[in-house]
Amino acid sequence: MAADLPTRARVVIVGGGVIGCSVAYHLTRLGWNDIVLLERKQLTSGTTWHAAGLVGQLRQSINMTQLARYTGELYRGLEAETGQATGYRQCGSLSLATTAARMEELKRSASMAKVFGLTVHVVSPGEIHALYPLANLEDVIGGIHIPSDGYANAVDITQALAKGARSRGALIFQDLKVTAIHHEGGRATGVQTDRGRIDADYVVLCGGMWTRDLAAGIGVTVPLQACEHYYVLFQDVAGLTPDMPVLRDYDHCSYFKYDAGKLLVGAFEPHARPWGAGGIPDDFCFGEIAGDFGHFEPVLLDAMRRIPALEKAGIQKFFCGPESFTPDVRYHLGESAELQNCFVAAGLNSIGLQSAGGIGKVVAEWIRDGHPPVDLWEVDVRRNMPFQINRKYLRARVSESLGLLYATHWPFRQYETARGVRKSAVHDRLAAAGACFGEAFGWERPNWYAPLGTLPRYEYSYGRQNWFEHSASEHRAVRGAVGLFDQSSFAKFRMEGADAARVLNRVCANDVDVAPGKIVYTQWLNERGGIEADLTVTRLCDSAYLIVTGAETETKDFNWLQRHIPSGANCVLTNVTSGMGVLSLMGPRSRELLQSLTPQDVSNGAFPFATSRVIELGYALVRASRITYVGELGWELYVPTEFMQGVYDELAGAGAPFGLVHAGYHALNSLRIEKAYRHWGHDVTDEDTPLEAGLGFAVSWDKAGGFIGREALLRQRQAGLRKRLVQFQLKSPQPMLYHNEPVWRADAIVGFIRSGMYAHSLGAAVGLGYVTAPDGAAIESIGPDDYEIEVAGIRHPAIASLRPLYDPKNERIKR
Ligand SMILES: Cc1cc2nc3c(=O)[nH]c(=O)nc-3n(C[C@H](O)[C@H](O)[C@H](O)COP(=O)(O)OP(=O)(O)OC[C@H]3O[C@@H](n4cnc5c(N)ncnc54)[C@H](O)[C@@H]3O)c2cc1C
Repeated sequence: MAADLPTRARVVIVGGGVIGCSVAYHLTRLGWNDIVLLERKQLTSGTTWHAAGLVGQLRQSINMTQLARYTGELYRGLEAETGQATGYRQCGSLSLATTAARMEELKRSASMAKVFGLTVHVVSPGEIHALYPLANLEDVIGGIHIPSDGYANAVDITQALAKGARSRGALIFQDLKVTAIHHEGGRATGVQTDRGRIDADYVVLCGGMWTRDLAAGIGVTVPLQACEHYYVLFQDVAGLTPDMPVLRDYDHCSYFKYDAGKLLVGAFEPHARPWGAGGIPDDFCFGEIAGDFGHFEPVLLDAMRRIPALEKAGIQKFFCGPESFTPDVRYHLGESAELQNCFVAAGLNSIGLQSAGGIGKVVAEWIRDGHPPVDLWEVDVRRNMPFQINRKYLRARVSESLGLLYATHWPFRQYETARGVRKSAVHDRLAAAGACFGEAFGWERPNWYAPLGTLPRYEYSYGRQNWFEHSASEHRAVRGAVGLFDQSSFAKFRMEGADAARVLNRVCANDVDVAPGKIVYTQWLNERGGIEADLTVTRLCDSAYLIVTGAETETKDFNWLQRHIPSGANCVLTNVTSGMGVLSLMGPRSRELLQSLTPQDVSNGAFPFATSRVIELGYALVRASRITYVGELGWELYVPTEFMQGVYDELAGAGAPFGLVHAGYHALNSLRIEKAYRHWGHDVTDEDTPLEAGLGFAVSWDKAGGFIGREALLRQRQAGLRKRLVQFQLKSPQPMLYHNEPVWRADAIVGFIRSGMYAHSLGAAVGLGYVTAPDGAAIESIGPDDYEIEVAGIRHPAIASLRPLYDPKNERIKR
């Protein structure tokens, strides 16, 4: 007998695809059995039923690979655990390279996989032939083989997860639509369905391509849009056997998978076709889309060249189904910024089956613990900006997203669609100065400047790209003279009120109860001592602060602070990002240039490091803050938006005698990394503490009122550190570091590079990464010559240092 719809549950999950069922399965595995899952039609009837079934494990980053790897492990044992067949078969996978760049990418991935012990073999065409005799390999130069990859039946996996969840008490209702999410006081409180209301402590949105609209209805930002996604089933393929590995031909946008006696050929074409932008039909259930065979045909023709046996095989089915894609091709997980206890797990970019196990696990643990179990920032739903649910933006961007799954993942690769969304007030002037813009969180930001006679256009490679020398010149000008950066994309908040100092001081690990005009570099910590934000706080007056943080964390940081304002506190937080642009003058001659333009005294005595004041500049009053992210004397100038052009013209017009150059974000990154300045989201995250990150100097241990995370830090200080952030400089000037390269000490991998860049003053690639002692013991010291970094399979000796390799005594900053 079907259970009655309850009026209350601890967790309500919306959506019965593989993701919703995995969240239910994992919550019940944690012992939470008061779970209700609601599905508008039938389980799997959205996108899940037509997944091709690939279960690969290697992704672009270490954390995502770990989620996929766990998924593979789960699926291997799921049938035995639940008694429900899953169709899982561990057949392995092969990925082909037909270009040197692709081969480098695959080799770099194979190196990354070593960090957590996933076996990936780099293979020759001969070895590929032995594993996959059906493939024509005349253009193939090599590949990788992952023996533990496999495939599964998505419907059966979902049913097995649902069965596992039900067996531990979860209730699953089908043909029941959630029509609204209830909330009160900024917290989700339950759902309205077409059969009544269910109150709940938590609501989890796992509604696949429906999630954007469902979330938008309650002001929650979940940018995703469905696209057409194609495959073809060939029958009577001569020589096909069930144990053939899954074959990926990235350079020709296709994959090949054994499918119950047939060969399934799927596509990740470069320009996808968005679907359902005007709304998804209400009766959509186990639906197919007509699709356009002509759109799929170019991929198909290449596929037939790759597997010549297809020419004599018959097409049994041409399939097109919808799947949701996201603007940055990463999924959306976790608690929404806008509504407490409203969780999201959606936007799977065609890797939902292979990700579902890991997603279910981390989302369940996130709900239980109130925080993610590991650093998941790259897929955290709070990274999104509100504008990203704009439909025109989504349609434009997702047409590019789908193809990016298989496109070469070039370092510094820029999106080509949905550009020009957020522009600084001096955008056109910077373009005229030769800026090559990159896109970040909607902002157009100058990444480098093309000298006269050259085009501001990327030519990608894994080595030194076409802008390398131009950016090196910018770097050197900042070290030797002065550079002008447009940092308008900084997120800026104002906190005001009689209680502002008290509230902010509790959130900041450093002491921000300082004199007006003082700038404080600080972290915001969670209760575990992990770093939630890395920013500067400037006291404007007794009752007001300016908070400046990275563009990518605008939503998250605003929300973190907002949630920590106690009810009743006399304190208001306002996002003033759009109201101010930022022009930064950085370099030893910045003082001379600035002094030539302002009547205020900017000498070291009158305007010391880490102070901020309003000065006259041109016709404007601007806030000058003496602080740096590049390791030189310099000022960030906070300029009201409508004064930006005038102030820029003053600076640019007066700059030549002082050697002023325009400098972009690639130079900024190179400058900051050789000074070992940390970047939140890479070098410091919510699972790294200031002590581990070498930021203990910014912790005010004994300030009145304490701070969030203090007790955890005290415990850690007493116990000793098991990991330390180390700066590495390769001894050879040749190899390039990007991120995720393994760090070796003797014959053990002891960490990986969190962020890497070429450091032009040091003359080699530099990376920041944590090292751990192999036995989990406390790290007492770092041997400067003990380490090697693996790049594309080759280990390179590195110099290791806990202190910045560039200007370790800060002599250049404080003069
Ligand atoms: C052609 C194709 C091939 C693919 N191949 C692979 C592959 O090989 N490997 C892989 O990993 N992934 C693959 N995928 C992707 C994979 O299928 C998806 O990522 C995955 O199924 C998404 O699962 P989901 O649970 O998020 O969404 P869905 O399966 O769409 O589930 C969401 C559910 O929510 C329900 N719902 C929505 N709104 C409401 C509401 N208001 N009330 C109640 N219920 C609601 C819907 O009815 C739906 O059933 C493929 C996708 C396509 C289209």
